[in-house]
Amino acid sequence: MLVGVLALQGDFREHIAALAECGVEAVAVKHLSEIDSIDALVLPGGESTTIAKLARSFGLFDRIVERIRSGLPTYGSCAGMILLADRIEGAAAGQESFGGLDITVRRNAFGRQVDSFEVDLNMLGITAPAIRAVFIRAPWVESVGSKVEVLASMEFNGELHPVAVRQGSLLATSFHPEITGDNRIHRYFIESICKSAVA
Ligand code: GLN
Repeated sequence: MLVGVLALQGDFREHIAALAECGVEAVAVKHLSEIDSIDALVLPGGESTTIAKLARSFGLFDRIVERIRSGLPTYGSCAGMILLADRIEGAAAGQESFGGLDITVRRNAFGRQVDSFEVDLNMLGITAPAIRAVFIRAPWVESVGSKVEVLASMEFNGELHPVAVRQGSLLATSFHPEITGDNRIHRYFIESICKSAVA
């Protein structure tokens, strides 16, 4: 199984390292031919507007959309979650997403005062102990469609917001497991999502 990490901008190197630790072959992808040769895709954290624009100008955008629509297992962290969302609140003018995940995501949801923080989170599908979740100008999930499973939520100002979701072969987290050295979420993606999609 070959896992591609979209390498246009953002922390793709950290994802490649985390995937390699899980024992799968992981490569940086930025050309059209590479998008066609992968069995799974990771959309990294970074800046969703920039990644979408670069995907357009490198001619990758439509092919990524097609592959996601036809069932390519895909995991997006932070900016990657925004790129997978069908609907974006707080989008930049003209901001596009690949879509596929029936959620409305709110960009920069936690506000300026709390740009970045860490918290321990329990997540469905991940055995204890809790995940140390690192949020950096992170989105949260505002609403989900009926096929979306919420795997983790967190309380903010008295309200509970989903921060990890799955819909079939698509997985998204508001936070960045790729920078913590804990690869359980990458392992979950490979073992529970990619392998069942390939089988
Ligand atoms: N705020 C960024 C965006 O909208 C996401 C930040 C991140 O990936 N750490 O794309």
